[in-house]
Amino acid sequence: MRVGSLEAKPGEHRFGYLEVAKSRSGLAADIPVHLFAGAEPGPTLLVQGAIHGAEVIGSIAVLDLVAKLDPKKIRGNVIAVPVVNRVGFELGERGSKVDNKDISRLFPGNPTGSVSDQIAYRYYEEVIKQADVMLDFHAGARTAYERYVLFTAEKDPKNLTDIEAKRRKLVVAFGLDQAAFFPPGTFGANKAKDAIEDAGVVQITLEFGGGTGWFKNGEDNVRDAERGIWNTMKAMRMIEGEFEADGPECTVYNACVVLWKPDVDGLFIRKRRFGERVRAGEVYATLIDPYTGETLADIPNTQDAIVIPSGQEWVTIGATSIGILGMIDRVEDRQSADLYVSFEASGGEGA
Ligand SMILES: [Zn+2]
Repeated sequence: MRVGSLEAKPGEHRFGYLEVAKSRSGLAADIPVHLFAGAEPGPTLLVQGAIHGAEVIGSIAVLDLVAKLDPKKIRGNVIAVPVVNRVGFELGERGSKVDNKDISRLFPGNPTGSVSDQIAYRYYEEVIKQADVMLDFHAGARTAYERYVLFTAEKDPKNLTDIEAKRRKLVVAFGLDQAAFFPPGTFGANKAKDAIEDAGVVQITLEFGGGTGWFKNGEDNVRDAERGIWNTMKAMRMIEGEFEADGPECTVYNACVVLWKPDVDGLFIRKRRFGERVRAGEVYATLIDPYTGETLADIPNTQDAIVIPSGQEWVTIGATSIGILGMIDRVEDRQSADLYVSFEASGGEGA
């Protein structure tokens, strides 16, 4: 298999950099790529960290995987990218200072656009298009997010497309006890996700805790992020083995309520905990003056719902969402669920 000028033959692991773009002064933002070409043919799994440069839990999990993965023992291929957004990573920032863009929002990219547009174009053409499944790791940076699988809402839950049916299984197979989707329109259009789906790729986003350094659950999150990659390979029949998970069930939320910050800026104090039911009109959070401590605004919940995973900086500035609530859409039982997906067109062993 090839990515750019990098090539791995069956049973090989190769590492190199994919040339993507240079800044006006010649700074290269080349993307580090590990290729694992399986000894036997099969599907291709892409695992990537830090497309938001400050969200590094997935990066560590990807590197832990790289240290252990033996290409001679897998069917199919793994493309492992610890850091997609190198400019943001090196500055400890989500986006890219080169052009103030968010690469994750730019697919399929533009070969004649700004630096981030070019990065998105090359990465989409060379890497994403080769994948059958893409695990895209995110996390809180300074923010302590909850942890959950985030996926695109299904167009018609009673009549799933092939990609939606596969994604439904992989979301559960990954192994976290909670997942969420935003119904169409909740967070606006995401053309980048559409472009990935148009390329036939089953894309899943992971939000994996966060917060500063190894505060609280950092090590557990890295461990379980890596566990999820192995589980995904099992579901794709790239390796054999038992699934390991948080627990026997995966609760899937319809994230239908997004609360936005009022015009005033301040320190954000969340009053409600994850999993708590909040009725319409009840106070979800408060903004206080950072110097006097006086209450600037109480933020009411808009619809009877349950607090689901989300995070927010203490300091809130500008127009930003400050809470996500939703309803339980379904509870998946891992014991009885069929978690296996087949990718026959990719040379997998088939159903
Ligand atoms: Zn992110």
